[in-house]
Amino acid sequence: MLKIHPIPAFSDNYIWTLIDASEERACVVDPGDATPVIDYLTANNLALTDILITHHHPDHTGGIAELTQRYSPAVYGPMNERIQGITQRLQEGQRIEVFGLDFSVIEVPGHTLDHIAYFSDSNTTPILFCGDTLFAAGCGRLFEGTPETMLASLEKLAALPAATQVYCTHEYTLANLRFASAVEPDNQDLLVRVQTEQAKRNADKPTLPSNLTLEFATNPFMRCATPSIKAAAEQYAGHAVDTKVEVFAAVRRWKDNF
Ligand code: ZN
Ligand code: FE
Repeated sequence: MLKIHPIPAFSDNYIWTLIDASEERACVVDPGDATPVIDYLTANNLALTDILITHHHPDHTGGIAELTQRYSPAVYGPMNERIQGITQRLQEGQRIEVFGLDFSVIEVPGHTLDHIAYFSDSNTTPILFCGDTLFAAGCGRLFEGTPETMLASLEKLAALPAATQVYCTHEYTLANLRFASAVEPDNQDLLVRVQTEQAKRNADKPTLPSNLTLEFATNPFMRCATPSIKAAAEQYAGHAVDTKVEVFAAVRRWKDNF
């Protein structure tokens, strides 16, 4: 059985670590810092064979150089030449194999323009490493993309199987839920989720992975076609918003100022 373990880094990052069935090899996603990764691999006697990178931000790429020097792993990442140390640059639709799992690459520009996600349905439950694109009850800030590009990217992820386990990079869930509750105070699924996620944090556990079913029910950015979200967006904007992109743009602006 393949395992997926979160290595905490910085104040709220998780470096997701896939461990092969023999428990000898590991693959890390977005190692922003090499130190906690080296500590974990050493403590568990694991060799690092693969690194997956989703986008260029330092909190996702900062550990590549040191880990490469120490373990010489294959390093997969976006086409962006600015990211140093990538050994195989990937585009939409390309496939890679890690520990018998077949991952396909999905381009998801918005948070950054180079952002990619990794999806595999060769596991019992499908898995998605989505970096800073989709968060539990939220989505990444639009540093480089437009609302159009980000919404299109989220819709690509929404088309994946509903059971997909969503491995995001940051533990932003409670803050995102506070915002989601302001947007949809009457959403019952949201009220329930606030309780479950708060309980996990009280027990010092990660709220992640999430899954797409839960995101469809509680994530305002995945619910832009829902009348309650549209109404809230109109109230925030102070005028009628007609398209899904306008709804998304208004809710994103609202979150940025929340
Ligand atoms: Zn980022
Ligand atoms: Fe990040």
